[in-house]
Amino acid sequence: MKPEDNQENLKRCICQECPVYGQCSGEKDERLFCGRTNSACAMNKGRQCICGSCQVYFENYLEGGYYCIKELK
Ligand code: SF4
Ligand code: SF4
Repeated sequence: MKPEDNQENLKRCICQECPVYGQCSGEKDERLFCGRTNSACAMNKGRQCICGSCQVYFENYLEGGYYCIKELK
């Protein structure tokens, strides 16, 4: 299930430290892809997703990653 799209989760999201995350997403202030939807931007696809180090990921028993590229259903 998707994590809640709330301020607490938004603050704890570490997407902006991720190598997959690019300038385009920064300009749009995109974050919390797991609780929202995937990005409208082209991401740095060859890099490693760091969702696995995120507290939101643990607490919601998420699997996989790269939610900025493929929406979590
Ligand atoms: S699991 Fe990934 S997308 Fe979701 S809040 Fe954490 S870093 Fe952001
Ligand atoms: S969803 Fe994963 S791959 Fe995408 S920016 Fe966030 S941490 Fe990086």
